[in-house]
Amino acid sequence: MSKSTREIAILTSEIATQKKASSDEILTLLKTKEVETLFATANAQRQKKFGKTIILRGIVEFSSFCSCPCSYCGLNSLNSDLQRFRMTESEILNAIKVAYQAGYRAVVLQSGEDPFYTGDTLSAIIKVIKKQYPDLILTLSVGERSTEEYKQWKKDGANRYLLKHETANPIIYKNLHPHANLKQRIQHLETLKSLGYETGSGFMVGLPGQQIEDLVEDILLIKALNLDMAGIGIFIPHPKTPLKNVPEGNPLEAMKALSIVRLLMENIHLPSTTSIETSQSTHFYEPLSCGANVIMKKVEPYIYRKLYEIYPNPNLKETSVEEDRITLEHYIKSIGLNAF
Ligand code: SAH
Repeated sequence: MSKSTREIAILTSEIATQKKASSDEILTLLKTKEVETLFATANAQRQKKFGKTIILRGIVEFSSFCSCPCSYCGLNSLNSDLQRFRMTESEILNAIKVAYQAGYRAVVLQSGEDPFYTGDTLSAIIKVIKKQYPDLILTLSVGERSTEEYKQWKKDGANRYLLKHETANPIIYKNLHPHANLKQRIQHLETLKSLGYETGSGFMVGLPGQQIEDLVEDILLIKALNLDMAGIGIFIPHPKTPLKNVPEGNPLEAMKALSIVRLLMENIHLPSTTSIETSQSTHFYEPLSCGANVIMKKVEPYIYRKLYEIYPNPNLKETSVEEDRITLEHYIKSIGLNAF
């Protein structure tokens, strides 16, 4: 039986107070039609911790080469139609400079799994960045690497690491990543945490075979690992992948999941993911009003932004990093919040 507004209000505020929820309670919230109530409680939680501040994070997608055949991703190694690029060290440093000058104080370096950038290559780049911009929070998102490399990069000054678990269902995980497994992914996340990284994970909503019960496990995994960040997005089909005919995930479902994570974890950084923003189907709600406190924006040169095509994004326009930042700041102001 579906619960009333009042029952959902009581359940959400109990979860927000106790910072824990049973699988059944999470399932109830994922299924509820009372989204206004759920979102309002999550929004209040965000506000309690972060006030009016929305953190803007620049992302430098520096290589679209990838050795992995992940079946949802446009960069997958089997996609021979993609024009691949690699940014040089000086291009990367320049992108960071442009982002810093535009006002970003948090930047992510992301790429496909590209061994061209060895541990030492990235180490050198991290050191220069941290020397030039000591107040810049630097996140790495370059896939699964060795513990030695993670250690080295932490020593060099990297602050955070993003490695999405993608789905907490081990069978779906295996289907999507024939070369890997979920257990190993989780081990990497645990290693990163133990090395002192602020560690981020996340998952996609709408993967083939995924049930709503799987999302409960996704949420509980983020809580169990006590992660510092989580990117929750929807699956978007890419025409050059085996999943090209699978329908796009439901953005409302993803936002519900995001808001439940916010209830359970008040300090966690939750970006409003591009995949939800990209989705054409629902724009009634906005991730920033249901618990998200971060917006990520591409800051590499436009030509590379376009080529780094994880999924098609029709909203991508040829704008400068400065213009983008100003537009974002205005938007955030217009909904009564402030950009940092
Ligand atoms: N190689 C890095 C970065 C991956 S790309 C790594 O392995 O961590 C960043 C994220 O894009 C992925 O973690 C995945 O969650 C998301 N992504 C990839 N393909 C997608 C698709 N078709 N729809 C939605 N999100 C996708």
